[in-house]
Amino acid sequence: MPPQRKLFVTTALPYANGKFHIGHIMEYIQADIWVRYQRMHGHMVHFVGADDAHGAAIMISAEKAGVSPQEFVAGISAGRREYLDGFHILFDNWHTTASPENKELVQAIYLRLQQNGLITTRNVEQFYDPVKGMFLPDRFIKGECPNCHSKDQYGDACEVCSSVYSPTDLINPYSTLTGAAPELRSSGHFFFKLSDPDVVAFLKGWTQDGKLQPEMARKASEWFEAGMNDWDISRDAPYFGIEIPDAPGKYFYVWLDAPIGYLASLKNHFDKGQAQNHWHPPSRTDANFDDFMADPAVEQVHFIGKDIVYFHTLFWPAMLEFSGRKTPSQVNVHGFITVSGEKMSKSRGTGIDPLRYLSLGMNAEWLRYYIAAKLNGKVEDVDFNPDDFVARVNADLIGKYVNIASRAVKFLEGGKLVASHVDRLEPARLVDTVKDLYEAREYGKALREIMASADAVNLRFDSAAPWKLVKEGKRAEAAQVCSECIEMFKVLTACLKPVLPELALHAEAFLKCLPLDWKNAAVPLGEGHHVGDYKHLMHRVDAKQMDALFEPAEEAAAAAQMPPPPFDKLRTGQASAEGAGSGKPGGEEVAPAITIDDFAKVDLRIAKILDCQGVEASNKLLRLTLDIGEATPRNVFAGIASAYKPEELVGKLTVMVANLAPRKMKFGVSEGMVLAASHADPGSQPGIFILNPWPGAQPGMRIR
Ligand SMILES: [Zn+2]
Repeated sequence: MPPQRKLFVTTALPYANGKFHIGHIMEYIQADIWVRYQRMHGHMVHFVGADDAHGAAIMISAEKAGVSPQEFVAGISAGRREYLDGFHILFDNWHTTASPENKELVQAIYLRLQQNGLITTRNVEQFYDPVKGMFLPDRFIKGECPNCHSKDQYGDACEVCSSVYSPTDLINPYSTLTGAAPELRSSGHFFFKLSDPDVVAFLKGWTQDGKLQPEMARKASEWFEAGMNDWDISRDAPYFGIEIPDAPGKYFYVWLDAPIGYLASLKNHFDKGQAQNHWHPPSRTDANFDDFMADPAVEQVHFIGKDIVYFHTLFWPAMLEFSGRKTPSQVNVHGFITVSGEKMSKSRGTGIDPLRYLSLGMNAEWLRYYIAAKLNGKVEDVDFNPDDFVARVNADLIGKYVNIASRAVKFLEGGKLVASHVDRLEPARLVDTVKDLYEAREYGKALREIMASADAVNLRFDSAAPWKLVKEGKRAEAAQVCSECIEMFKVLTACLKPVLPELALHAEAFLKCLPLDWKNAAVPLGEGHHVGDYKHLMHRVDAKQMDALFEPAEEAAAAAQMPPPPFDKLRTGQASAEGAGSGKPGGEEVAPAITIDDFAKVDLRIAKILDCQGVEASNKLLRLTLDIGEATPRNVFAGIASAYKPEELVGKLTVMVANLAPRKMKFGVSEGMVLAASHADPGSQPGIFILNPWPGAQPGMRIR
């Protein structure tokens, strides 16, 4: 077995002044597939994200919304989970750059760079809004294009003729904040000496060392030929950001602290004790953030879009190297997503609204599958084409793969597999090929291999025609063909699992197999194995849903330009104020009165926790095995993974609802419920507390 890899994986930090768009979701899906693929090897992966919270743009947006920048960012952050959960994107941690961890890391990295002589200061002339009393970022200055003389062009580039210039080149510039004519003022700025010969020499090596895709390495060479300029890393107050040590009124430019947010999110993950929790037993080097990052075996892998390559392949590795830290092992760059060939534009409102997609009842895994089918390891744009989407999901995913199970299981008596010649369909070759393609992020090729194999399985089924065999009385032969098909369905499911984690869970339940991974993927279920009853695994895309996704163009455009969602005041401290003496204990009204007979209907029992396990693909649930004195212990899923480590609970007593109707959940059947206390708004008072009886209580005792 190859040694376990230790991976620290990130996606680009989204700027916290707007909701996620389809471009974010595409990147998260790309990274999430890679992470799930690695986890199927048993590798250790810490996959983290965070909101990029600083900068003038957020400060100004917050001011317009009438809230503090912190409140503004908190409002945006609160909306992230809906998208991430909705598309099964399983970050281990989501944090923010406006955090104590980030401040500490940013200042430490800066001080090391300063000690190493790589920070310098010089005066910069910049436009200043005399009414607002602040220096203006380029995007907040407009004027007449010096090239084509179009009016109202931004300070950095003309949208009409595409020429790029500096704000001082604009004719009749004005501040978009106040309309005032900006004045040129001089101010001292801090610079990171990217032009330092040591830095340039390091970057020339680092960028050509196989860590970048070939086209990105070539791009970097062009940049070196053009020459490196020092990087302006400071901004003047007022600014929402991290203060520069010993420089009153000076803040770090948001782009300095944003990538350090990757480290801050990982540190936060470790400090919460969650990183260690994934692995049993945690090894010593993985005990904390500093030890983990000092481990030379740890690979740091970034997924980013092609618009932020300069930051991630020059500034970021240089900052890390010259502050004595680990540099990235891979920077994986993807292209943009276009819709029917048109570049997505937030301001013009084209594109696909991810939440609208979900609200229409469209399956998240259709999008995961479609995006995966279009992605490769190169920096190419991905086009979302509605007709292509429907065809791939309905014809390939469902027509070729999903239907194998429903067609073949009918001819197995009692779901029992017989000895078969599944090897003829080359399961091991498929798994090996697909694994290599996932590793190289060649997801499109991987899915083509998988679908080609599905074609072969369907061909085997159709040419053997088991329905005819049965009519001819050749039941054994029909069962053999169908056993092969079911065996291959299992192999295909394993191969698709990184892309379709939910479907794979349902398929595993149908197959009655262990969670699929790369070790067991090609191992046959074998003669005599029983599969379960087939339940419909996935329905087809309805063309009407697709129409609805694109229909209300005006509405979608309006939504894209809307101010951020209103703040849930419960999240900003009012809930805890309400808790005390407001008649809402624990944040909610006491429920209407019931009679003693009503209460007697609920059968509460003392339960002993025999076993407790994390649930793969859920960061909320734990699977508890409970003894209440019955012949067979019960399985109960409880949403307490944020509060308890499985090993903390094993052997403890708790209280369960013993007569709750069994509930089918996506991970299995829950045969009851354990009791736990929490505040109505867990965000205001964190914590879930499982009930634990006084010593002496015995499993099975009724609570009355
Ligand atoms: Zn122009």
